[in-house]
Amino acid sequence: MHPDHALLVKYSKPGPRYTSYPPAPHFAEDFGIGQWRQEIIESQDASRPISLYVHIPFCDTLCFYCGCNMVATQKYEKAQEYLKYLKREIDAVAALTSSSRRVVQLHWGGGTPTFLKAAEIRDLASHIRSRFNFDPQAEVSVEVDPRGLLREQVDALRESGFNRASIGVQDLNEQVQKAVNRIQPLSLIQEVYGWFRQSNFQSINMDLMVGLPHQTLETYKATLKEITAMAPDRLAVFGYAHVPWMKKHQKLIVQSDLPNFETRMALQEYILETLEGKGYVHVGMDHFATPEDEIVKAQRSKTLWRNFQGYTTHRNADIYGFGASSISQTNDVYAQNEKRPTGYQQMIGEKELATVKGYRMTTDDKLRRDVIIELMCDLVVNKQGIGTRWKIDFDDYFAKSLELLKPLVADGLVEADANEIRVTTLGRLFLRNIAMCFDAYLNAEKPKTAGQETPRYSMTA
Ligand code: SF4
Repeated sequence: MHPDHALLVKYSKPGPRYTSYPPAPHFAEDFGIGQWRQEIIESQDASRPISLYVHIPFCDTLCFYCGCNMVATQKYEKAQEYLKYLKREIDAVAALTSSSRRVVQLHWGGGTPTFLKAAEIRDLASHIRSRFNFDPQAEVSVEVDPRGLLREQVDALRESGFNRASIGVQDLNEQVQKAVNRIQPLSLIQEVYGWFRQSNFQSINMDLMVGLPHQTLETYKATLKEITAMAPDRLAVFGYAHVPWMKKHQKLIVQSDLPNFETRMALQEYILETLEGKGYVHVGMDHFATPEDEIVKAQRSKTLWRNFQGYTTHRNADIYGFGASSISQTNDVYAQNEKRPTGYQQMIGEKELATVKGYRMTTDDKLRRDVIIELMCDLVVNKQGIGTRWKIDFDDYFAKSLELLKPLVADGLVEADANEIRVTTLGRLFLRNIAMCFDAYLNAEKPKTAGQETPRYSMTA
C-alpha cells in the first residue's frame, strides 16, 4: 500500500472523526437537564448493558498538543472539591437506573485520572461500585500519565478492580517531548509499564501520536523499537490534530516544526508495516492489538463499536458520562455536560445534573450511524443487512451517497457491488473520507438550532 502524493492531497480535507453521528458540533442547547433526566427514566431497558465514563479534568502541566477538555493546576484541593460533585452526579443518575442492568465497562479519562491520589482513587471507585451493578467480567480501564505516577496509585487502581490501563507515551524523542512540553524519558515509561505488568493488569495500551513537531522517520523508528520491545497488548496511534482556532494553547507549537505531509504519511506507513510485522492486528482506524485481545475478537465478530472513547467492544451499551464535558449516550440521545469544572460544579450543586447540550436522533440519523459504524469498525457495509434492518432499499435511500462514493471507488479506496461496500487496504487510510459520503450534515446543509456550533474539523489525512 503506497498511496501516491496526489491521492493524499486530494483526500486531505477537514472532516469529523465519527466518534458519534451526528458529530458533537450538532448537539444543541434545546436539550438540557430535563430532557436528559427524562431520557434516563424512559430508556431503562434491562437487556441493554451500561458503560460508565468518568472525566477527571485536572493535569499537572499542559501538553501543547492537547485536544482534551482539561485544566492545568498544581492545586490538589480543586480535585477534592470536584470529586464531591462528581459523586452527587453519580448518585443522581444511579437513582434513576434500574439495578438489574449490568455495568460491563467503566473508563476513567481526562485530563489525568492519575492526578488523583491513591486514597481518592479508592474512594471514588468504591463509590461507583456501590451505586451500580457491576458485571464480574467488566472491563475497567484508566488513562495514565506516567509522569509523577506512584506505585501506590497503581496498587489502588488494581485493588479497586481496574484491569486495563492506557499509558500516554506519544513519542520518546527528547526534542519532540520538549517541543510539546511533555518530558518523560524511556526509563520512566519502562518503570511504570513494569508496575502495571507486575500488578497483573489484563491489558496495557500505549498511546502514540504522529504529526508532532520534529518527528522524522528516523526518530520514530527509535521510539517504535523501544515501545514494541515492551510488548504492550494494544497501541493506539493517533494523528495530531492541529486546530489552534479551537485549542488556543496549540499556538505554542511552532507550526514550521511540524512534519510535512510526506513525512506524516511516511510515519503512518512505517508504523503500519512495523506493527503488523510484529504480529499486531490493525483494528479500525488507529488501533493495533495482539490477536488474542478482546478488541481484535470484537472486530472479527463484528461487535466492535465506536464512541467518544474511541473503539470499544460493547456495541449496545448505554453510556453514562460523569464529570465536566462528559458525553452520555443512549440508543436515541446524546447528552453533554457543561465543560468548565466550575460551571459543572455549580450546576450539580443546584440541579444534580449538568447537561447543557444534547441531541435526539431521528430515524435517518440512526440509520446513517449504523452505516458509518459498519464502515469505521467492520470495514464493510452489508447493504442487504442494513436494508432489512431499516426496511429500505439501500441503493435508493443512499443514491446520493453512492454517487459521492464513485470517485473513491475509482481511486481504489472502496469496492462497491450489489451486496457490499468494502474498504480496501488503501482505503483504511481514508476511512473518515469514506464515512463522510454518508454524512447528511456535511452533504446537505441542515438549519442550525440554538447552541449548535459551526463545525470546523481536523484534517482527515
Ligand atoms: S496529560 Fe493528557 S489531558 Fe493533560 S494536558 Fe497532557 S495530553 Fe492533555
